[in-house]
Amino acid sequence: MTVVSKSSGPVPQPGILDIAMYVPGESHLPDGLTPIKLSSNENPLGPSPKAIAAFKKTAESMERYPDGGATELRQAIARVYGLDAGRLVCGAGSDELIGLLTHAYVGTGDETLFPEHGFLMYKIATLSNGGTPVTAPEKNLHTDVDALLARVTPRTKLVYLANPNNPTGTYIPFDEVRRLHAGLPKSTILVLDAAYCEYVRRNDYEAGIELVGTSDNVVMMRTFSKLHGLAALRLGWAYCPPGIADVLNRVRGPFNVSGPAIAAGIAAIEDRAHQEAAIAHNETWLPWVTAELEKIDLKVTPSVGNFILIHFPATGAKAAAAADKYLKSKAILLRAVGAYKLPHCLRMTIGTEAENRAVVAALQAFMTGRG
Ligand SMILES: *Cc1c(COP(=O)(O)O)cnc(C)c1O
Repeated sequence: MTVVSKSSGPVPQPGILDIAMYVPGESHLPDGLTPIKLSSNENPLGPSPKAIAAFKKTAESMERYPDGGATELRQAIARVYGLDAGRLVCGAGSDELIGLLTHAYVGTGDETLFPEHGFLMYKIATLSNGGTPVTAPEKNLHTDVDALLARVTPRTKLVYLANPNNPTGTYIPFDEVRRLHAGLPKSTILVLDAAYCEYVRRNDYEAGIELVGTSDNVVMMRTFSKLHGLAALRLGWAYCPPGIADVLNRVRGPFNVSGPAIAAGIAAIEDRAHQEAAIAHNETWLPWVTAELEKIDLKVTPSVGNFILIHFPATGAKAAAAADKYLKSKAILLRAVGAYKLPHCLRMTIGTEAENRAVVAALQAFMTGRG
């Protein structure tokens, strides 16, 4: 990163030069081979064919600005989930919504709070706005509500909770989320980042729709990048109390969601069969990959998402860095998660059957030294 001397030229706002740039999951191999890319939790089945068709159709009218309110998309989401479209705000990925919410509520001297292995965007958004990111320790790679509550101060403006969390793949039951909310001051917003909620099959889990509907200080974020397979289009939505929706609508760009994203998003949210197929695929392969890796003495954190966190020995020939290098030599890209304070782990997205089998075979060879 470039170092800017304070005396020599333009200086950005406080906090901005403290940001460690977000490094996306790798997507290219040095020699230009097509990799098995399991580094960004994308949908191995791709998007709904109906979303692809809707996207293509928008090519015929690209000279037109999109509907700045993304009205039809919000209405489609509202219909599918039984929500009030007036409380929905769409964004260029939930990343943009995290940024906008933070921009609107966090300034110099304010704090945000999140679990220690929480999604990196929370820290970046906080520093971008001059705020101080505060992290709470986790318990066995699970969010610890007591540790979060112990760190709430009068300056805590936002508490971000990815449930399930990325990169751990763990979740906390909704009773615990309610307990967290009950312990927060009314002036603190609880941000429930439910990027992976559709994959969770647990009776004690909820994404947070009901809590948003009955509170003034809870926001739920959702994305089209994971289950819906539309990561390239950049599309997410937030379900908000009316006051917070109003604030987000004031600070967002007037055309922050593109026409192609709106069209594809409507088709995707209405294609229930495609969503079910992606969930069923994950239900089959998540346990299979987990079990196969455990057979070769790799510890896998039990995941409820579409990815797993794989633990390697801290040192020696079987360490995570060596595994990453070996997999790359086999054209397999997983995600190193040192930036998430998990240097001995790699995160793997559940891929197609062929991809999953290829990773398991490669890791078997790596672990037994036959690689
Ligand atoms: C992938 C992910 C998102 C979604 O990001 P988009 O900007 O919508 O692509 C949000 N939160 C978490 C925890 C994620 O893993």
